[in-house]
Amino acid sequence: MPAYDSALHWFRRDLRDDDNASLYHALKSAQRVHCVFVFDREILDKLGDRADRRVEFIRESVAELQASLRARGGDLLVLHDTARTAIPALARRLAVDAVFANGDYEPGALERDAAVGKTLEANGRRMHLAKDQVVFEKDEVLTQAGKPYTVFTPYKNAWLAKIQAEPFYLEAYPVASHARALAPGAAQAPMPSLEEMGFEGTGIAQLGIPTGMSGARATLADFARRIERYAEARDFPDVKGVSYLSVHNRFGTVSIRELARMAAKRKGVGPATWLSELIWRDFYFQILWHYPGVVDSAFRTAYDDIEWPDDAALFAAWCEARTGFPLVDAAMRQLNRTGYMHNRLRMVTASFLAKDLLVDWRRGERYFAQKLNDFDLAANNGGWQWAASTGCDAQPYFRIFNPTSQSVKFDPRGAFIRRYVPELARVPDAFIHEPAKMAASDQEAAGCVIGRDYPAPVVDHAVQRLKALALYKRG
Ligand code: FAD
Repeated sequence: MPAYDSALHWFRRDLRDDDNASLYHALKSAQRVHCVFVFDREILDKLGDRADRRVEFIRESVAELQASLRARGGDLLVLHDTARTAIPALARRLAVDAVFANGDYEPGALERDAAVGKTLEANGRRMHLAKDQVVFEKDEVLTQAGKPYTVFTPYKNAWLAKIQAEPFYLEAYPVASHARALAPGAAQAPMPSLEEMGFEGTGIAQLGIPTGMSGARATLADFARRIERYAEARDFPDVKGVSYLSVHNRFGTVSIRELARMAAKRKGVGPATWLSELIWRDFYFQILWHYPGVVDSAFRTAYDDIEWPDDAALFAAWCEARTGFPLVDAAMRQLNRTGYMHNRLRMVTASFLAKDLLVDWRRGERYFAQKLNDFDLAANNGGWQWAASTGCDAQPYFRIFNPTSQSVKFDPRGAFIRRYVPELARVPDAFIHEPAKMAASDQEAAGCVIGRDYPAPVVDHAVQRLKALALYKRG
């Protein structure tokens, strides 16, 4: 790395000032490092909902990051602007020699970074992109033939073998030991408020979504006490079995190396299973990189020919959580209300949309993209293609989740259902998964008359299953 007088570190989805690869490289190679975060108009202007929890999450996390950098003797400039022009302009104004950032995988971000890099270069400045979001970069885990893996298990085995052979990949980047290079801030305008950026507060604190590095630390500490039970608890949405760290992984308020280290150093099936989930994350990033076509089409392109009936009323019922399938409706309400959905339920609702409602999975993918706090193009696309059986290493198309059996198995007493669908709170356990089967008198007694208080099922699973099989066979 060349030695510079001054540099700019551009924070994006790496909202932390410890164990941050690019920030570390910047501090090591420059005498003075300025820091910036841009609320990018190009991204924000495309968000449909003015009450977007992610914008609030980012703003809270950026405020904490700014305070933390100030405590270290540096600062964080926060702009509301168009990054592709604002970054080269700022680099010119500060007269820095180089701009450092952590690399991204999403096509839009890649294109933006290429444009910024080109402008910087034209002005005689360098741009350095580091690996930080993933443990292994897109071309660090390849088959013997040098090709990307498209099946998870061999990828995972190669990933684990590599980490065992080269454990330094999990080492932290000790930002603190180079913090003296952080440039103190000049007077700057206060951070833009949500209102100034055209957004509203969403009350994420009340929803119990802890933000920033401190939120990530607290969430991780809580999960570290439960990780041993992860393997058996992770499939039950009413049990606190999973980590809830995905939003922190999305915005980089925690280092992926720290998470992988924590799991790798522990013995047992819980930590090993959880580490596998982190490997899925790397897996889908490298799929997106090597096969960017998945953004718009099926990984198995033959399935692009499926003629989805795409019934608008059924899609609306799914989005609005009124399908008459209690677990599906509870899951969609969890998503709509909190921006989170448990992994088991993401699989159930995605499969239900494609294979029961026969709606093009891409519409569901887009809906999740609008609503999920942890929305990540690579993981979301991978998850949808897995559930719709159109992806690499996806579930075979003839394996169709039965939404009622899934409900019986993973929410046996309906505790999760009752939490999100209070209309069903008094329905007896025996009918909680299929309330429409209650006799009229039982419906009255439970205060849940089907068609009045809660909808009848919008489709018949057995009938739709056969239609789905026929669609996929033709596709
Ligand atoms: P944990 O079970 O504690 O897992 C730990 C971490 O591993 C997660 O925080 C996440 O970063 C990663 N992870 C877990 N499962 C997966 C997976 N299958 N693929 C990639 N990474 C994984 N995950 C997202 O982060 N963003 C998405 O937009 C997203 N969309 C999905 C859509 C569908 C249809 C499906 C089936 C899955 C999707 N997932 C997505 C994966 C998974 O559901 C979430 O990562 C998980 O539910 C987040 O909760 P957690 O942090 O408690 O997970």
